[in-house]
Amino acid sequence: MQTRPLKPTDAVLPPATIGILGGGQLGRMMALAGRHMGYRFRVLDPTPDAPAAQVADGQVVAAYDDVDAARRLASQCDLVTYEFENVSAAVADALAETCDVPQGSELLAICQHRVREKSTLAQHGLPVTPFAPISSMGDLDEALERFGERMVVKTCRGGYDGKGQWMVRSREDVEKHAQDWARAMDHHRAAGFDDQPLIAEAYVPFEGELSVIVARNRRGEVRAFPPAENIHKRHILHMSIVPARYPEDVIARAEDIARRVAEALGVIGLIAVEMFVTQGGELLINELAPRPHNSGHYTLDACATSQFEQHVRAICNLPLGDVTLYSPVVMVNVLGQHVKPLLARMSGLPSCVKVHLYGKAEAKRDRKMGHVNIVVDEVARALQWIEASGVWADV
Ligand code: AMP
Repeated sequence: MQTRPLKPTDAVLPPATIGILGGGQLGRMMALAGRHMGYRFRVLDPTPDAPAAQVADGQVVAAYDDVDAARRLASQCDLVTYEFENVSAAVADALAETCDVPQGSELLAICQHRVREKSTLAQHGLPVTPFAPISSMGDLDEALERFGERMVVKTCRGGYDGKGQWMVRSREDVEKHAQDWARAMDHHRAAGFDDQPLIAEAYVPFEGELSVIVARNRRGEVRAFPPAENIHKRHILHMSIVPARYPEDVIARAEDIARRVAEALGVIGLIAVEMFVTQGGELLINELAPRPHNSGHYTLDACATSQFEQHVRAICNLPLGDVTLYSPVVMVNVLGQHVKPLLARMSGLPSCVKVHLYGKAEAKRDRKMGHVNIVVDEVARALQWIEASGVWADV
């Protein structure tokens, strides 16, 4: 077991054991990529036979905030990583006591809180959506004055896929949601947090959304995957299109911003940078995720190195892999309601349609069950196939 701090040039070599906090699909694809390279994996997740545990050497079945269980995981591993950012400070500290945690806890603390995330980026001169921290109903009134009657209010912690998020279009909306916000503020304080419970953001009438996944290792090497154009439906990522259909200068700026984020925050591992593209071609960072990201699943079939292999390389301090895009590709998510129609067509799928399913037991509506990468010579052909297949008819 590796307990001494690593030097910038040290690499963690196979057959070292990598622990993953969280046993979902991101952990599963990380373990599959790392296993090819000869690493071993252990997973901590409350659900027995979790997607990542199915392809790992072992699982600690426990809640994510179980400090003793985190210590047990760390005692079996050479280094520990995570597949989600809501790792409690107590767990992060417990892991670091006995084990190498290359990503550290500082980046987690930044990405766990929307105000901290946006202020840190702004301090580094990076472009973010205009925002205001909200701790009281009075702050909300001030934000409304500043942003006009179109703004977005979000919980600072714990929101995802549009949960904990309210679109405000008028004074009536403010009145309508006032109780929800008061409840969210109480809930935040009851959970023991003394930072801002909510954030208000100017509504950005964006033309589209781009994300860039960047890797950085301890040697300071930085590599950005080609930007993905993301289409959300009902706040859930539906498709990622690569190459993104934007002018070259927008693409180049998106890559540059993402690289600057990785350097400014001293990232080790991956960081996904989600951005809005305004009608004038301006880029504004909306959100960060310090891990592999749904919008990077296209790399599994279309790039020289996948985001998952890149993550393993970065945390183990190996040289980063080549990020060349071999082919245009469209990634489309398979939610619970898409599984049956997809399986019904499975035996007749063309070979350019690469199916990835995550081994989840129950196909609940809107639950991410898998994704499909359509690897073709032209993005338009992939989009036609998605439409014609009828699998995503509900979207
Ligand atoms: P988030 O949870 O911050 O990633 O937001 C989820 C989705 O809500 C984004 O992908 C956007 O489609 C929309 N959204 C979030 N913030 C804003 C904003 N400030 N202006 C306009 N749309 C937003």
